[in-house]
Formats: sequence, structure tokens, C-alpha cells
Amino acid sequence: SCLSPAQVQALEHIENDFRAAPELLQNIVRGMHKAMDLGLSKPDQTLAMLPSYIVGSATGNEKGRCLALDLGGTNFRVCEVLLLGQPGRYTMQQKKFKIPHTLKIAPATQLFSFIADGIHSFLEEFATPEERQGASCSAISLGFTFSFPVVQRALNYGELLQWNKGFTNPGAVGKDVVGLLQDALHTRGIEVTVTALLNDTVGALMACSYHYPNTVMGAILGTGSNTAYMERMSRITKFDPLAVTPGASAPKRQVCGEDEMVINMEWGAFDNEGNVIPYNRYDRMLDVNSTNPGCQMFEKRISGLYLGEIFRLAILDMVRLKLVFNGRISCALETPYILDTSVISTIVDDASPDFCEGTPVLEEKLGLQFTCAADRYIVRRVATLVAYRSARFAGAALGAVVLRRDDRLARSTSEEPLTLGIDGSLYEHFITFRENMVQSFRETVGEDNMTKLRIVLTKDGSGVGAAVAAIMNREGK
Ligand code: ADP
Repeated sequence: SCLSPAQVQALEHIENDFRAAPELLQNIVRGMHKAMDLGLSKPDQTLAMLPSYIVGSATGNEKGRCLALDLGGTNFRVCEVLLLGQPGRYTMQQKKFKIPHTLKIAPATQLFSFIADGIHSFLEEFATPEERQGASCSAISLGFTFSFPVVQRALNYGELLQWNKGFTNPGAVGKDVVGLLQDALHTRGIEVTVTALLNDTVGALMACSYHYPNTVMGAILGTGSNTAYMERMSRITKFDPLAVTPGASAPKRQVCGEDEMVINMEWGAFDNEGNVIPYNRYDRMLDVNSTNPGCQMFEKRISGLYLGEIFRLAILDMVRLKLVFNGRISCALETPYILDTSVISTIVDDASPDFCEGTPVLEEKLGLQFTCAADRYIVRRVATLVAYRSARFAGAALGAVVLRRDDRLARSTSEEPLTLGIDGSLYEHFITFRENMVQSFRETVGEDNMTKLRIVLTKDGSGVGAAVAAIMNREGK
């Protein structure tokens, strides 16, 4: 009512840009299924569909003590995990180490030496007396969560495809990262054996299945987005279970057709070709100015790294048309990636009539003052639309993966529902996002199926999940 006709028209245009109608969600499901089939049949497809070499999920009865190492950002973390052998029950101790910038560009051997030193200092503090004296009868096994693109050839063997996130250490690309870590440990005489290498989504799935054995997938909705799920071995046609890699441990048991393997989808790259989801003006602008144009196109629509930026581009457009903030442009508003997605959630989740939580946050971040009720309305509306589309797409994609396993869904019941473990700030902290995502998931899988499904927040895939994978391998399960 307080809006001018020009403002109404501009908002309608943006509504159209960010629509996520039921037909589009169905196209996402169909497109995802096709892309999954392709990725499972041939290497180097849009969806990488990487075999994790984890066969079967956890039972919740895994028992024992091991280490977990998490490397993927500014810190690495060492944990000691004691699985108590009852679903969801464990204890954990951990220590975080900051990685200095110089070590992210030093030769890989120096980075892995630094990590081995961290493991050593962790053990000094937490090891049993026997272990400290090197008197224990066997090495401690370690699960290694490594969040960089890797092609695995065994559970404990994976070649780095490329570094990202500011790491450039020469001497690692093309090498087995388990070997690099193991060598650094050996050099120091540290009695630790790396028994499992996994990515963070696989860790989320394993951690969730330790709580709920009927788990079918693990997903991350944070800075980036990706998913791992259990696939029937007979459908992973590109995979040769008998291929043996020198240096990797032999398969612990014969894999047969009825088994399931965890697949890391790398779904951020879904629809890079642009055949399924239309790009709007802001998607194009963001992509063209990104460090990886044409790549990770699905992730660019749904994950935390990008939502704030899409919102900024849309608001900047409105300001240039003099439809908001009296047409005043601040330096901040012209700065790429100045808005964190947590700002979007503050704006969208603020249900107060006078927008009392969103206002100060946004005014401070943008260095602009709201001038009238129309400004507040427009800003909130645009943020809501950007987040709505993202949540709807994420829900449809999750639904697509569940529908792919309609056999597992058919066998599940409301007493023992098929379970999805999700980690990441968008799911955990952004309430409206989560609600819209679940609604879109519901539309995708169908109301009837919802009683047989459960979504749970799964934290600590890189600790508990890695430990479960390491212990499953140690036991030769
Ligand atoms: P990771 O980097 O491991 O994925 P998170 O799951 O915490 O870590 O995700 C971080 C991303 O989530 C960032 O892009 C950040 O903007 C976004 N984020 C953090 N807090 C919130 C929040 N309360 N609401 C929405 N997004 C958030």
C-alpha cells in the first residue's frame, strides 16, 4: 500500500526472477536423476558421483577408540573418539590448530609435517600411558576428513585433483594424500595408521547412521553445498570393485551386487549446462564475476557463500532505479560479498512488524539509512525471495535423492523412518530457510511418504563420522 507503481512493478519482476514453482521442482528431480545415472556410468560427468569405498552404513554397534583428523579450512582439528557400541553413544576430546598462511603455500611435505606435529602434541596430552611409551600392541587408527576434491581408489587411498580455499602447496596434486600424511607420521615415529579417507558429506552420513542405522544420506548446507548417499552397488556401473591400487589396502571383503556404497555426489555442479534451472540476471552477474565461471552453478543458487551476494546485486539494481534508499548508493553496497548470509537470515527471520532486528544490522552493514516503510518492505521482500528460491531448490534436490532410493523408502516405516542427516548453518540457524526447504522436500517426495522420513541435524561428521568409517575398516566389516 505504501509502494509506488514503479516499486510494485520492480518487485514483481524480482518475484519472477526467483520463482520456484512446482513444475520447476519436478524438473530438478528429473534432471537430477538423469545426471546421477550419467555420473554413475562414466567418469568426468557433471555430477562426479565419486565412490567413497565405504560399503554399507554403520549399525550403531561400532565400538572402539580412534583418532579423527579434519582438514579443510583455516584450522585443522584432531579428535579422539570413543564409540561406545550403542547407537549415538560416544565420547570425544579434541584440539584445534590454526594453519598459518605460510604453510598453505609451502611444499606439501611441510604442511603434512605440521599436521603430524599437531597429532603428536594431541597424543602427548590425551594418549594412554602405554601409547605414550610406544608400548601399546597396535597402532591407533585414524579417520581423515579431507574436504578437497579427491579421486579415491580405496578407502585409504585418494589422489588430490586440485587444491582450493587458499591452499596451493606444491607436491600434492596427483599424489595420494593418505600416503603424504602416513609418511609424515612415520618420520616422527608416531604409531597411527590412517585407515579411512572421506569427505565431509560422507562423514555426515556416517555420523548420522551411527545414531540412526536407517540413514540414506548426509548433506551439507553451509558455505558450500554437497550430498552423499547410499547407492546400490549394481547401479554404480563405472565402478570396478576388483581394481586394486598399489599401496592401498586390499578390499576387506568381497563386494557383491546387493551391497550399497556411499557415493559423494559433488552436487554443487548440478546443471552447470543450464538445461534445467533458468538463470536470472543476478545469477549471471554473480557467475561472470566469480573465480570459477560456469562451475558449481547449483551451489551458486543455494549455498551460504552466495545468497548475501545475490541479495546485494538485486538491491543495488533497485537503488540504481531509484526505487529504494532514495537512490543513494554507499561504498559498502558496491562491495562484492560484503553481506554474509547470516544477515539475510536476520532480515528474513525478523517477524517484528517494525523490522526492529533487521534494520540496525542492515543499516550498519550497508552504511545506508532506511528512509521509509517502503524501504523496509522492499528490502525484506527481496531477501525473502532470494532465500525462498534457495531453500526450495535444496528441498527438491534432497527429495530427488530420496526418491532415487524408493526401494529403501518402501521398506521404511514410521517407527523406523528413512533418515537424512543435514549439517551446516543454513539448515541449523536460518529458520525460514529450513521451513521452506522442508516444505519443498514434502512437495517433492509426497505427503504420504513424509511419515516414513526423518531429517535430523547432524553435527560433527568429521569427528564421529570419520571415527565410524575408520573403525568399520579396522574391523574389516
Ligand atoms: P562451513 O563453512 O563449514 O560450511 P557453516 O555450516 O557454518 O560452515 O556455514 C557457513 C555459511 O553459513 C556462511 O556462508 C555463512 O554466511 C552462513 N551462515 C552463518 N550463520 C548463519 C545464519 N545464522 N543464517 C544463515 N546463514 C548463516
